[in-house]
Amino acid sequence: MTYQPELIGGHLALDLVNTVAWRHDPTRTIDRFADLSNVERWLLAAGVRTDQAAVTPRLRDDLVAVRRIAYEVLAGLAVGDQPAPAAIDALHDLISGAVRSASVELNPFGWRAEDPEDTVRLAVWRLFEDEDLGRLRRCGDDGCGWLFLDRSKNGSRRWCSSADCGNRARARRHYARARDGSTA
Ligand SMILES: [Zn+2]
Repeated sequence: MTYQPELIGGHLALDLVNTVAWRHDPTRTIDRFADLSNVERWLLAAGVRTDQAAVTPRLRDDLVAVRRIAYEVLAGLAVGDQPAPAAIDALHDLISGAVRSASVELNPFGWRAEDPEDTVRLAVWRLFEDEDLGRLRRCGDDGCGWLFLDRSKNGSRRWCSSADCGNRARARRHYARARDGSTA
């Protein structure tokens, strides 16, 4: 089946992190970026690239490195844990590299990156700089591991996708109720 990137993170940097599916279930973990054509699909879907240029292994490896650094800090923050000092150091290096590689645009004023790898590094910087990370959540499914910004008014979003993990949880609850009912 062709990979269809699901952009549910609410931010480019989180959608990058979510290119690993089922992180907490080793029997199912999938790295979408294992396949270069999937990297190409993701770059297009996420709007990092508008042209269909082939992805080199080197670009993939750069994106994977950015993804790992972002994940190591964000995974902790999403559940209220302190990220490891080494992860913070790596993030600091990543962000200073992003600033160095960005060019300054006037009218309107802003930072811009050209290459896909610089664009995602800039996105990581923006996530930490601009967003309320108090709204960062990890999907409520035990195996899923996807991260997202909960932009709901009352901060009640629990699932990466209500149609996916949310639906499965509802089905499990329903099944448990039915089972308990029949054995009672
Ligand atoms: Zn999920």
